[in-house]
Amino acid sequence: MLNFGQFRRVTVLTGAGISAESGVPTFRGEDGLWRQYRPEELATPEAFARDPRLVWEWYDWRRRLIGACRPNRAHHTLADMEAGLPDFTLITQNVDGLHHMAGSRRVLELHGNIWRLRCTREGTTHEDRRTPLPDLPPHCADCGALLRPDVVWFGESLPSEILEAAFAAAAACDVMLVVGTSAVVQPAASLPLIARQRGAAIVEVNPQATPLSDFADLVLRQPAAQALPQLWERWQHP
Ligand code: NAD
Repeated sequence: MLNFGQFRRVTVLTGAGISAESGVPTFRGEDGLWRQYRPEELATPEAFARDPRLVWEWYDWRRRLIGACRPNRAHHTLADMEAGLPDFTLITQNVDGLHHMAGSRRVLELHGNIWRLRCTREGTTHEDRRTPLPDLPPHCADCGALLRPDVVWFGESLPSEILEAAFAAAAACDVMLVVGTSAVVQPAASLPLIARQRGAAIVEVNPQATPLSDFADLVLRQPAAQALPQLWERWQHP
């Protein structure tokens, strides 16, 4: 059993699975499908160029689903860990904003945020939490250009500053918790491998096996909302 009290620098990587118990569909589950489309056909720059309205209808649907969801005990536990640990970094692949809603202050959002809209001409962003959005596709109030969701689509590169900070946190940590991610989407999937190469312990929280499971020092085959509060309790009271 790992001695959690010994870990000074803690990094956490979360994926869609941490929000599953809040009711947010994962991409790879049955409920990830919308009409007959797979996310890979809609979350791309090509799909948006071809049919922005269709892509926005999908995002509008997802925003409605996510807007009805609340953070669960796993999100809240990570907010408690941030408040209670001296060196803590939270990296997420999620775009749902639930970590912020749970009280996490500093979140490295690798794939953006579904509640932010970005002007395709000027690159400016703003938050708009309305569901449904009144006009699809939405246009920039300043310049009239199309707005897009401020998320990273398949085939696009990740925001470089955030990615650099994430790699730095992976390389510097003593332990990395990998929660609710299938560990196949790059470059996020390489973060635990970097942490491991640098000697960090890896803890996986996932009810299913993933390509990472074989490398993990501890595997908790439980839903995150069950595993994380128990882990944090043991961490504080060994
Ligand atoms: P994924 O859909 O590929 O994998 C989800 C993982 O979570 C699976 O391994 C599954 O076994 C696990 N899981 C399911 N229920 C769980 C639970 N209760 N507790 C812990 N683990 C659980 O998700 P991914 O690895 O994040 O990659 C998919 C991509 O899709 C990401 O890039 C992400 O941006 C995007 N996405 C985001 C959201 C969101 O913001 N909530 C939702 C769907 C997809």
